[in-house]
Amino acid sequence: MSKPGERPKSPETTVVTAGRKPFDHHGLVNPPVYHASTILHPTMEALEKRTPTYTYGRRKTPTIEALENAICELEGGAETVLCPSGLQACTLALLTVASAGDHVLVTDSIYGPTRTFCDKTLARFGVTTTYFDPLIGGGIEALFRPNTKAVFVESPGSLTFEVQDIPAIAAAAHAANIDVIADNTWATPLLFDALGKGADLSVIAATKYIVGHSDAMLGTVTANARLAKRLRDTHGNLGLTAGPDDIYLGQRGLRTMAVRLRQHQATATRLGEWLQARPEVERVLYPALPSDPGHAMWRRDFKGASGLFGVELKPCSTAALAAMLDGLALFGMGWSWGGYESLIVPAHPHRTAKKFETKGPLIRIHAGHENADDLIADLDAGFERLNKAS
Ligand SMILES: *Cc1c(COP(=O)(O)O)cnc(C)c1O
Repeated sequence: MSKPGERPKSPETTVVTAGRKPFDHHGLVNPPVYHASTILHPTMEALEKRTPTYTYGRRKTPTIEALENAICELEGGAETVLCPSGLQACTLALLTVASAGDHVLVTDSIYGPTRTFCDKTLARFGVTTTYFDPLIGGGIEALFRPNTKAVFVESPGSLTFEVQDIPAIAAAAHAANIDVIADNTWATPLLFDALGKGADLSVIAATKYIVGHSDAMLGTVTANARLAKRLRDTHGNLGLTAGPDDIYLGQRGLRTMAVRLRQHQATATRLGEWLQARPEVERVLYPALPSDPGHAMWRRDFKGASGLFGVELKPCSTAALAAMLDGLALFGMGWSWGGYESLIVPAHPHRTAKKFETKGPLIRIHAGHENADDLIADLDAGFERLNKAS
């Protein structure tokens, strides 16, 4: 954080500097990895009064603290906690605000497993969920009930990439004393200031762009001052902690996130523009493209775009789509995203509030750091196989 009167640091500088104190560690650039369960106390008094900063490996070590502090500074929050996965961060955020008898509103474009948690687990504890049209904006007010406790947004939406009017949703929610949770995995705090735009809790699947290399699972939740203690207590009571080596990979990935995201956006834009001009493509779902219905709102609220986007194809058979995808050389087929490599998967959005209309199959692409011309050549050969198989 900058001190009063100091020139504020840009977020690109923060990803490099935050959470690092080299001269606390003999000048080493990166914070060392502390493996710990038991932490010894010098005296009985220290043990019983819990005076030391570090008392137990699950709660806090210098390794945990380094990444928590870095993310908290980047988010502009009051408290950040680490979770063993991004999904765990989503579920922790809900458990922080919802109690038995409460009602939560969740965007219909939510990450699928978060929906499953609401429907299967939250429901068992007496919390009911209503899904809402991601384009509802301030109209969300009409869905508020006396027991509504939280609105969970995710923008752009998983698989379908609708941009949500988070400032309008947050203004309506706060006027009714309802908390706002934002899953900000797609944009990261570098491209969307979730807390500044009205979220009370910001969730990131750090597995994606923070780790950035497809080799660790990690989640973070950051709270504003009002929810800070409640978040920290809920995290502690659930016994959550993340492994030190995974945390290390998270802090290591963070340092290059700003430059990686710029490249993801450049390559995704190239691919999106090329795909849009293809006769096999119905539309490209990527808010950074001027043709996207969410483009104006994206420009208003976001500082950039990441590398994940959707493509609706013209109607074709499953066999033709498989012929395209199975033969790709550079695009791997697998879940998750946010690493250096390009990925492609068929996408099947699950909707209950409002049907997501498509004519042909929907696919999801993650633009990695391969050369864009090479990626285009791979897709071009893929379309040739698709056309032959049709
Ligand atoms: C991947 C993802 C998650 C879950 O993260 P994991 O680390 O895989 O558990 C949550 N939200 C969004 C938007 C995601 O894309």
